[in-house]
Amino acid sequence: MAMRCAYHPESDAVGACVRCGRLVCAECKVELQGKIYCNTCAEEILLDKAKREVSKPVAAIITEENTSGQGKVAVIPQEIRGWNWGAFLLNWIWSIGNNVWIGLLALIPYAGVIMAIVLGVKGSEWAWRSKRWDSTEHFRRTQRTWAYWGAGVIGLIVVIAIIAGLAD
Ligand SMILES: [Zn+2]
Ligand SMILES: [Zn+2]
Repeated sequence: MAMRCAYHPESDAVGACVRCGRLVCAECKVELQGKIYCNTCAEEILLDKAKREVSKPVAAIITEENTSGQGKVAVIPQEIRGWNWGAFLLNWIWSIGNNVWIGLLALIPYAGVIMAIVLGVKGSEWAWRSKRWDSTEHFRRTQRTWAYWGAGVIGLIVVIAIIAGLAD
């Protein structure tokens, strides 16, 4: 005597549900990750899974929106805050490259020194507001390059000053 489906007595069973053990026919057999389930169990498993997905914390689902380049309304991400070496060292050159026009005040004699410090403190925030960046990663990568160039230029000036001093 052939085994019959628990749900359809007229049909031959092709397997048993791994969860409840009931025999299933080809029509009510559900395969999930290589295992056989009956329709009822499969539904319960999927419903359970869906419920667990929904109860995930909202903060984990909504990723922070990139608002760079939107001026005053731009939200400054935590990752880009902090001292900006490129802005401090290359002040007005950096300002042109990053659309931070207020930074051109660094060209004014004496006041320029103060402006360079202000740029070091506020530079990252201003650059994030005034220019569109692909991501915080893109922003940080670009600012790192500026910092290297700044250090290179300052290093070169120091070397020239030492050579000039020795030549005296
Ligand atoms: Zn079952
Ligand atoms: Zn069946």
